Amino acid sequence: MKLSVIIPSYNEEGNVEKIYNSLSKTLENISYELIYVDDGSKDKTLIELEELYKKDKKHVKVISFSRNFKKEAAIYAGLSHSKGEYTCIIDGDMQQNPKYLLEMLNFLEKNDNYEQVAMVMKKRRVDNFLMKVSKKAFYFIIDKISDVHFESGASDFRMFRRCVLEAILSLPEKNRFSKGIFSWVGFNTKYMEYEVEPRLNGKSSFNFINSLNYAIDGILGFSTKPLRISTYLGMFSSFVAFIYAIIIIIEKIAFSIEVSGYASIICVILFLGGLQLISIGILGEYIAKTYVETKKRPIYIVRKTLGINDK
Ligand code: UDP
Ligand code: MG
Repeated sequence: MKLSVIIPSYNEEGNVEKIYNSLSKTLENISYELIYVDDGSKDKTLIELEELYKKDKKHVKVISFSRNFKKEAAIYAGLSHSKGEYTCIIDGDMQQNPKYLLEMLNFLEKNDNYEQVAMVMKKRRVDNFLMKVSKKAFYFIIDKISDVHFESGASDFRMFRRCVLEAILSLPEKNRFSKGIFSWVGFNTKYMEYEVEPRLNGKSSFNFINSLNYAIDGILGFSTKPLRISTYLGMFSSFVAFIYAIIIIIEKIAFSIEVSGYASIICVILFLGGLQLISIGILGEYIAKTYVETKKRPIYIVRKTLGINDK
């Protein structure tokens, strides 16, 4: 098998068949499998997938989750069942045109020294101003504070060889931030540009709050620098307080100046209270993540599979 295509799908009833038609036309000269992962959809996605499986048992495989485990889990499930020499991940909503699969495949076939191709979006027409600015800020921050490189605009839309696949599957963590995992495993990655299309049917499940939570999970998963920053903030504010205490003592003893300033005291108390809460929050976030990991729960639970020969 040359290529495994993983398609995480959550409430994509209107897109399942369209992406199938487009993918099977694009890949007609290649041996391939399409692994659809139904991430606990609430609409008719699974029914559509069953129809598709009946129609084309040779290429279509389906994994259906017992509930919504989120996109990262869907990707992991697909990767675990990939049989191809190359594996590729593509969204199920046609925002990523299947024609780029051939470009990625050609590149990997011609360039032995690269193990991975990642598509980078040129510009995202569908995003509003707030999303655009916050995504830029996110990539800037995470690239600066984590040990691995985060390419701005690179998504899960990528293709890689089996060595990369095996490396990714060897990471057992529950908090799976694939953008980070793809970089963390290393290997030579080629970045190629692509144009994002508008969503075909249905609506995006990422709003501003979802994306913010996703970004925080990403930063926590790939860096412990926030803890270091809160340590430095604590050291800095103690230092400022110490200097100010000396100034006050000198003023009082040498110049008999009355210490005044109710307003400034309130400001300082609020400021330090805020810093303390932020630091406790950061600490708590890491403890919570550790707690979740120690439970060793599975990343996803399967309700039904089609065309997958699991033992
Ligand atoms: N998706 C998923 N599980 C989820 C949310 C999304 O498998 O809980 C899939 C979704 O079906 C789509 C891809 O992830 O194929 C990208 O999702 P979406 O289009 O909502 O995100 P956006 O393109 O707006 O970032
Ligand atoms: Mg989308």
